[in-house]
Amino acid sequence: MSPIRVVVMGPPGVGKGTYAQAIAARFRVPHISTGELLRREISASTELGLKARSFVERGVLVPDEIVNEVLCKHLSSEECRSGYVLDGYPRTLAQAVFLETIAPVDVAVLLEAPLEVIVERISGRLYCPSCGRVYHARWRPPTVEGICDSCGAPLVRRRDDDPSVVATRFKQFYEASSEVVKFYMRLGKLLVFDASVDSSIGIPLLLKKIEERLSARPHTEAARPGQAA
Ligand code: AMP
Repeated sequence: MSPIRVVVMGPPGVGKGTYAQAIAARFRVPHISTGELLRREISASTELGLKARSFVERGVLVPDEIVNEVLCKHLSSEECRSGYVLDGYPRTLAQAVFLETIAPVDVAVLLEAPLEVIVERISGRLYCPSCGRVYHARWRPPTVEGICDSCGAPLVRRRDDDPSVVATRFKQFYEASSEVVKFYMRLGKLLVFDASVDSSIGIPLLLKKIEERLSARPHTEAARPGQAA
């Protein structure tokens, strides 16, 4: 079985994390969010974290060299040997080209939803700074208000979920991603998916489409549910 490499793209709040986690669980590969990797580097005040901090806090893209370095550190680990699901990367054409040269992706998923749906999802989002778990005040509340179910840490709103920063990130996504989307379209790897439905309906539909794409790969077949890749 060759590695399964999927990228999940979409504007902030479209549900990238939720969909990416479901794809990762289905194919038993790690879910890698570059936003999360960067936030961890920042919390740990590493050299890369210190370089990335001001960009992340302003909601602007971290320069390609920094984010590529953070990502490469993770992709070279043993757990990524059977593949991965990338969430939030690539965001620029240069990143997409870089990724294609180090480890070509099988499917590039573009999640889409109208702006009203996205605003509703982002406005209630809560984040655990300790373990990274994401909640929604209305749709996925923690058992005890304001406390993480997994690790008991107090939940916070991400600084970059502030409405003014969200608007910057939204605009930036569409500006930066059009080249990336065209790049994957030209390669025949793009899968556009309407993520405005509830994820309990959307996830099985998307998984089926990805399985179809993977089984059409030359010389390979998609892993059966629950089977390690
Ligand atoms: P996210 O959690 O994916 O919304 O990312 C949060 C922030 O991390 C973004 O607003 C950027 O500042 C930074 N970031 C995450 N992934 C990338 C990337 N691939 N390229 C540049 N910056 C990124």
